[in-house]
Amino acid sequence: MKRKVLVLEDEENIRSFVVLNLKRAGYEIVQAGSGEEALEKYDENPDIAVAVLDVMLPGIDGYEVCRALRARGYGAGVIMLTARTQEADKVTGLMTGADDYVTKPFSVVELGARVDALYRRVSNNPFADEDIIISGPFKLNLRAREVQKNGVKIDLTQIEYGILKAFMQNIGKALSRDDLLEMVWGHHYVGELKIVDVNIRRLRIKIEDNPAAPQYIVTVRGYGYMWEA
Ligand code: CA
Repeated sequence: MKRKVLVLEDEENIRSFVVLNLKRAGYEIVQAGSGEEALEKYDENPDIAVAVLDVMLPGIDGYEVCRALRARGYGAGVIMLTARTQEADKVTGLMTGADDYVTKPFSVVELGARVDALYRRVSNNPFADEDIIISGPFKLNLRAREVQKNGVKIDLTQIEYGILKAFMQNIGKALSRDDLLEMVWGHHYVGELKIVDVNIRRLRIKIEDNPAAPQYIVTVRGYGYMWEA
């Protein structure tokens, strides 16, 4: 199943920001700048899994779009982007068939989490792994357990792959050595935290442009590491 997300937002800077972040999270994006355009795009892409709809639009508003989608029988998950928090709007939204709300101003992290959650619900598989994660020049394929940088496959051990996967599933989040140990080696591993540092050193040599000045796996002093692509 394609992980297609529709992003409807008339403000171009907000839209491109949302699109960029959802693309990084591995979604294929269909964009629209108006409600009318969104409905056209939807007809061309009936496999859209989640629709992120801004409410305030120059033509027909986000609620109208949602109502029209439901009337056409599309079963996508719908998240409304609303600038307003009044109860009345939530009621309107629920009546039009929206599944969730994000109130502006929102963080892309929050929106991304809502899209992920709704996608899992819609795709009917709460354990569905994301197939592809893209971050900077890196592309991680969870099915093939393979990582490419600028389209070139990187040779990794299973542990190195596990570390990269842990980072790329937590972009921009500091992970402690304990976190990494648990995520990669598992709960039952009994040993030294230093094994994390040793593997990260090796991984940096394989993936960083300049391992002496890492820009992707950065050190978070006194804590651990963070993925910054
Ligand atoms: Ca708007």
